[in-house]
Amino acid sequence: MVCKRCASDNHGAFNGEVAIHFPGLNGLDKPIVWAFPKLAVCLKCGFTEFIVPERELRVLVHGTPVEGAQVLPNSPVRLSDKAGDKSASSATEG
Ligand SMILES: [Zn+2]
Repeated sequence: MVCKRCASDNHGAFNGEVAIHFPGLNGLDKPIVWAFPKLAVCLKCGFTEFIVPERELRVLVHGTPVEGAQVLPNSPVRLSDKAGDKSASSATEG
């Protein structure tokens, strides 16, 4: 494989974790799509290529979640809303 950006053949294969966001203000109402593709990284310039899996690609095409795709829905979930917060600070008053 030759890099499309710098023509180097010095590349490596890595496991990736990518969160894909729709652009612009309209993107705030769309799901965030998670993909875990194999990455082909040019070790000279950093240019990276990967293939979005078909199921996650359908989310990008339609802008709505599909069954089985790993997406973060557009309604935010705050970590502070989750139970089990261990913020036990033992402040002593003097
Ligand atoms: Zn390159």
